[in-house]
Amino acid sequence: METRAEFPLPDVAWEPTREFWSAAARDELRLPRCASCAAFAWYPGERCRSCGGAQLAWERLSGRATLFSWVVVRHPFLPQFRENLPLVTGLVAVDEDPRVRLPTRIVECTPEELAIDMPVEVVFRDLTFPGVAGHVRAPLFRPLAAR
Ligand SMILES: [Zn+2]
Repeated sequence: METRAEFPLPDVAWEPTREFWSAAARDELRLPRCASCAAFAWYPGERCRSCGGAQLAWERLSGRATLFSWVVVRHPFLPQFRENLPLVTGLVAVDEDPRVRLPTRIVECTPEELAIDMPVEVVFRDLTFPGVAGHVRAPLFRPLAAR
C-alpha cells in the first residue's frame, strides 16, 4: 500500500512523478519520453510538449549529466534541513538531452569545487530528515571525477 511521504520528503505517490520515484527506489533514473517524436517530456505532463503526443513511456537514462546551475543553501529555511547544511541544490542537464534539466542535490563535493557544465553522475541516496518518519530514495548527482 502506498502512503504519502511526510513533508519535506518528496511526495512519491503524486501521479505525474510517481514513476520517477518508483524507478529511483530501484536505483534507476527514468524520465517520460514521447513515443511519437522521442522528445523527453519533462516536467511530466499528460502530453508531449513538442508534438502533443499522448503516448509517453518512462525511459531509463545513463545518469550522466552536466551541472547547469546551483545554489548553496546555508540558511535552514526549514528546521528539518538544519543538520544537512550546507547543501547544494542544483539543476543538471541530462546527457541524453541537455534541454532536460533535473532539479536535484549535488553531493560528495564542496561548493568551491562546482563549475558550470562540469560532468556529474547520478547516485542514489535515501533522503531522511530529523523528526520525519520514513525515507525516500532519490537520484542525487556527484562530480563524475569523484570516484
Ligand atoms: Zn512528442
